[in-house]
Amino acid sequence: MRNRSRLDLICVPEGMDTIFAHERWTDLKPTWLEAGLLDQAGAPTPRMVDGGAAGLRIDLPTTRVVYANQLGGFRVHCPRCGVGVASEFAHAIERARNQGAIEVFCRACQATHPMDALHTRPPIRVGRSALVLQDAGGSRLSPLGASAIREWIGAFSVVLRRVS
Ligand SMILES: [Zn+2]
Repeated sequence: MRNRSRLDLICVPEGMDTIFAHERWTDLKPTWLEAGLLDQAGAPTPRMVDGGAAGLRIDLPTTRVVYANQLGGFRVHCPRCGVGVASEFAHAIERARNQGAIEVFCRACQATHPMDALHTRPPIRVGRSALVLQDAGGSRLSPLGASAIREWIGAFSVVLRRVS
């Protein structure tokens, strides 16, 4: 029996403007089926992720998007003085939807901080593409699953998104 909330594992390639080779999926899918990473319906099995998942989706937004937790949200703090800078961060993202550095000016310490320096909890990523394991039974990829994904999309981080 599942919880009321849903857990998605979002695999986001390193480099916020990276668009991974999504067109390879047609060729890869049969090999993932054969390796037991997917069931006959195309859903990730427990060989790929704890408890399996309901589905797998390629996300290709038209701009940079923030991949982050939903239920309970996330916090963004200044790396120098520790104050919350969530609204400054949201504005910085709006300014850099398509290009340019994402930088946040902290009024408390009067300094500008790059996106990578910000303290975000739980971790978030900005990206232009992602592989989403929807409604997973647990939060961990298997070593086999992680290496199959890495071979396809390159180095990546996992963002956990809990949705109500
Ligand atoms: Zn500060």
